[in-house]
Amino acid sequence: MPEACLFCRIVRKKIPAKVALESSQALAFYDINPQAPVHILVVPKTHIENAMAVGPEHAGALYEVLMLAQEAAKKEGISKSGFRLVFNNGPDAGQAVAHLHLHVLGKRKLGWPPG
Ligand code: 5GP
Ligand code: ZN
Repeated sequence: MPEACLFCRIVRKKIPAKVALESSQALAFYDINPQAPVHILVVPKTHIENAMAVGPEHAGALYEVLMLAQEAAKKEGISKSGFRLVFNNGPDAGQAVAHLHLHVLGKRKLGWPPG
């Protein structure tokens, strides 16, 4: 886990975050700059730079990321109304933090195509 990685530091509770849910291999916390009434980030606890760095050794962690996204949607009351799951990957997608994170966005109508 790189010392300098912001989300590794949140995972290790070195930087505070409002935690929504936690499992053994994943953490869900509220985005500091929400883009929708519900905006939660779900990260694997292990450092993975982005979607291109995912390998078979990450299967368990990625499963837990999706399970926490499901649970977060239920907890926030958007599992039936709908929500969006986003992995920004690389510069053109505006990935700002180089630690894989799944955005869970909802509780409003979301435009398509995204900007
Ligand atoms: P990206 O643009 O990399 O897909 O998303 C990074 C997200 O992390 C942004 O939505 C941003 O608001 C959020 N973020 C950046 N720094 C922090 C932080 O210190 N705490 C929390 N909770 N979210 C952060
Ligand atoms: Zn990291």
